[in-house]
Amino acid sequence: MTDADERIEGQVIEEELDPERETRRRFALAQIRQYPDAALKLQARPVQEFDEQLVKLAGRMKQLMTDANGIGLAATQVGVLQRMFVFQPEEEDAVAVVNPQLVDLSQETEVSDEGCLSIQGVTVPVERSLRVTLVGQDEHGDDVRYELDGYEARCAQHEADHLDGVLMIDRTTPEARKEALAILRPRIVLS
Ligand SMILES: [Zn+2]
Repeated sequence: MTDADERIEGQVIEEELDPERETRRRFALAQIRQYPDAALKLQARPVQEFDEQLVKLAGRMKQLMTDANGIGLAATQVGVLQRMFVFQPEEEDAVAVVNPQLVDLSQETEVSDEGCLSIQGVTVPVERSLRVTLVGQDEHGDDVRYELDGYEARCAQHEADHLDGVLMIDRTTPEARKEALAILRPRIVLS
């Protein structure tokens, strides 16, 4: 597998997987809320208690994200209304960010196609800041701070949106939204 075969779109890595990985991906996706699940439109609440449950949830979400071939996953996507998401930095292990805040969003923006683990089979163009500083806590309650650019900056903005019940189709152009909904609609009727 060369890098040329791999494309990162918002929350999703698009690449060919071997059959075993593909099975694991499908199993993970089946555990992630899919559009138009109501949980995806809800606002998550601040985390106040850093307990064993939170650590377990963070671990489960990291595993689901990796298995689903994603680079980010928000708690609302697994039906938990707590302000936490996990993401995959370029050269490190997956991390959890609790009560995330995006500060210093760059004025400079870029429009690029995004995918979402909760809206499968659709990509839409979304304008995002090129650089952001992400602050919050990890799952143990320790302060964290990340200076992000490139796909990491886009992913953090996508995940933060999820915690406010905002989806990429709410951020795209009216035309792209219409096209995306047309693709999604037949699937809803059939499922
Ligand atoms: Zn998403």
